[in-house]
Amino acid sequence: MPVEVRLSPLVRRLVAPNASPMTGGGTNTYLVGVGRVTVIDPGPADPGHIERILEAIGDATVARILLTHGHPDHAPGARPLSSRTGAAVLTHPFALRDGALLSGGGATLEVLHTPGHTSDHVSLVLREERALFSGDLIVAGSTVVVAPPDGDMAAYMASLERLARERLSRIYPGHGEVIVRPAEAIEQYLRHRRMREEQVLAALEAGPARIPELVARIYAEVPAALHGLAAQSVHAHLLKLRAEGRVAGTDAASPWRRL
Ligand SMILES: [Zn+2]
Repeated sequence: MPVEVRLSPLVRRLVAPNASPMTGGGTNTYLVGVGRVTVIDPGPADPGHIERILEAIGDATVARILLTHGHPDHAPGARPLSSRTGAAVLTHPFALRDGALLSGGGATLEVLHTPGHTSDHVSLVLREERALFSGDLIVAGSTVVVAPPDGDMAAYMASLERLARERLSRIYPGHGEVIVRPAEAIEQYLRHRRMREEQVLAALEAGPARIPELVARIYAEVPAALHGLAAQSVHAHLLKLRAEGRVAGTDAASPWRRL
């Protein structure tokens, strides 16, 4: 894999060496702007990756370092990169408030607070391209984990619905390749979650059930190694449905039922 890939006149990408089942090919670090660059998601505090980011920055100055969210595959590299460049690290809610505009190097980034994967998650619209840096709200080639209590399915689906109204030209995800048909990808994500929600409701038709029983019914085709993640997702759906008054239940360990 080449060290640095140019994706557009304003956007370059480097991939951190942290490939895994949870991170796909690794975390994407983006450099946005010319001459004065904004770094999005430096990734893990991997010395080799930080050096490659610094090489790619070259003689340019770093306007700021942005984090889409605080997870360990996106954020820890910010501190060493900040101490090497002097650039500030901006996160939600302090500097990255919804609607904030950040410009530099010919690029204007608009902050969208898009909770769901985590409560602190933001996405960034590059106005010059109508392109979205989606962090882990949308990734290429798979779904993302929505795990309570910080993950919130109602918030997640609302964030997707908000993006569906943004008329985006492309998505630069936190993991994987550029998504060139954003409207389709967002609709597919929403369809998938709505289908799971229907499956959770259908699985409760037979009577009250605990989460592992629901997982066994709904995810029969999925390898058992993934049932732990599936349980978090089912829990997230149940909490959304409870807030809507459609199911009743207490926690991950006790039975849930339809209302
Ligand atoms: Zn991630």
